[in-house]
Amino acid sequence: MDVKKNKRVAIVGAGPSGLAACKHALGKGFRPVVFESGAAVSGVWARTLSSTRLQTPASTFRFSDFPWPAGTAPEEFPRHDHVVAYMTAYARRFGVLERVRFGSTVLAAEYVGPSEREVAAWERWSGNGEAFGDGTGEWRLTVQHAGSEGTQTYEFDFLVLCVGRYGVAKVPKFPPGRGPEVFHGQVLHSMNYSRMAHADADELIRGKRVVVVGSGKSGLDTVAHCAEANGEHKETVIYRSAQWMVDTKLIWGGVSFGKLAMTRLAELMVHEPGEGFLLFLLATMLTPLRWLTATLAEAYLKMHIPFKKHGTVPECSFSQSILGWRLGTLPEGFYDMVSEGSVQIKRCDSFSFCANGLVLDGTGERVDADVVILATGFDADRLLRGVFVSPRFREIVASGDSDTMLPLYRHCVHPRIPQMAVVGYAESAASIYPYEMMAKWVAHLLDGAVRLPGVAAMERSVAEWERWGQWAERGSGAFFLKSCIATVTTWYHDQLCRDMGYSPRRKKGGGLVAEWLQPYGPTDYAGIQ
Ligand SMILES: Cc1cc2nc3c(=O)[nH]c(=O)nc-3n(C[C@H](O)[C@H](O)[C@H](O)COP(=O)(O)OP(=O)(O)OC[C@H]3O[C@@H](n4cnc5c(N)ncnc54)[C@H](O)[C@@H]3O)c2cc1C
Repeated sequence: MDVKKNKRVAIVGAGPSGLAACKHALGKGFRPVVFESGAAVSGVWARTLSSTRLQTPASTFRFSDFPWPAGTAPEEFPRHDHVVAYMTAYARRFGVLERVRFGSTVLAAEYVGPSEREVAAWERWSGNGEAFGDGTGEWRLTVQHAGSEGTQTYEFDFLVLCVGRYGVAKVPKFPPGRGPEVFHGQVLHSMNYSRMAHADADELIRGKRVVVVGSGKSGLDTVAHCAEANGEHKETVIYRSAQWMVDTKLIWGGVSFGKLAMTRLAELMVHEPGEGFLLFLLATMLTPLRWLTATLAEAYLKMHIPFKKHGTVPECSFSQSILGWRLGTLPEGFYDMVSEGSVQIKRCDSFSFCANGLVLDGTGERVDADVVILATGFDADRLLRGVFVSPRFREIVASGDSDTMLPLYRHCVHPRIPQMAVVGYAESAASIYPYEMMAKWVAHLLDGAVRLPGVAAMERSVAEWERWGQWAERGSGAFFLKSCIATVTTWYHDQLCRDMGYSPRRKKGGGLVAEWLQPYGPTDYAGIQ
């Protein structure tokens, strides 16, 4: 009997990351249990505004070995319910669905066995460098099942956290007497608004004056959605700094800047984590070319999007926004709504609440409102950090010294947290296939095919990524999406491929030209199982 396959593997979360983690663990003969607090697979996609669509085209947002249903054009941006249908079909096809326990929230994860002091002193991850250690340690999960009063505990030999980074709202703080408590209307975060049943969400804003705070992706999607749902009413979005919010068709269609950025040649123009001298030299020499390309793209976008007319010219250059990934796509027809007057845009550095709405600091202008929706972002680390019972694990996994990178080796395992992996925290331009690559790597680790170096070497690698993140943050004008690997995705995948024993050069046919000039995407990695 294969002893390894009797090992108990828990996966927390049945979003795209959890589904991929389960599929690939099943592929290696494990029988994981997936705990999902919601009632459906597909994570954020199961609870969005009725108007939400992908902002990346179908051809880039897919699992490597599972195409979209026939009839979905590669350049299409499927609707949220089509994403859910696609994810559900994937889960069904690969036997994942029957491994999911819905309505099961993991409240706490406790490592039981070797003491924290012993774990901290280990020179090899999990004590011996193996996924399951020497068998003396295990994870004890406390789970709340929907409909039952108490909690249940379960023991597992390995824990995979796929909890996502969009599950906890970030809400601004206000001085006493200037916060939501003085407002007579209703205040909610865009996450909670998106999670409402669609009819209830429309009912909440019907005939109301809605003010949305924040001009990122969620902010513009929300205000456009409210304007559409609310007919003749005028909705307002207020924002602090204008970001690069661009038309999907301009960024992915025609001369697709999105696709160009996914080539190896484009990656050669940025520094890479742990690069050698030659690559360093090359990236330095190619910096003017990167600047020129980004400047041309910037001029093109400014020519086609009426930023200037509406006072929303982005405050950083396009080149900076790419490095820091401060970039999103506009809802369809957004600036038409602004021109028609159904959406108005107001800029202010800060604001406070009054009885009838908001007061914009600086000008003192009052904006009347019945409903205020705060599209003020997410606390990306909270779900991850919050699951650990150990204060030490909580501290080292996410709330250390860095805002730039989560200190995970290969963006998956913490060198000093045993028998545990994270899938889906590191962000890329199109998120699914990088998560899937992480899931494949973790499955190979479980299976013993990926061999980890010692803890010290893992920490050196983590430090390289941290230094790289700090470089990217400086180049981006101080905004860097934590653990964003968008500009070096293929470089990262090369590392995972080598670890798993696969060639990182994945273009079939076309030789060097294809390798360097064709965009890398999901299907290039289909052969890795
Ligand atoms: C509005 C929106 C639009 C987006 N659009 C795009 C896009 O166009 N293209 C793109 O590439 N990416 C996009 N993203 C990024 C998005 O994060 C990914 O598409 C993807 O959903 C992330 O998958 P995930 O499985 O890692 O996390 P999630 O989708 O967040 O799934 C995590 C799952 O874990 C569950 N969970 C969390 N904690 C627990 C717990 N303690 N116990 C049990 N279950 C738990 C949650 O219920 C959830 O189902 C978008 C994100 C948002 C919020």
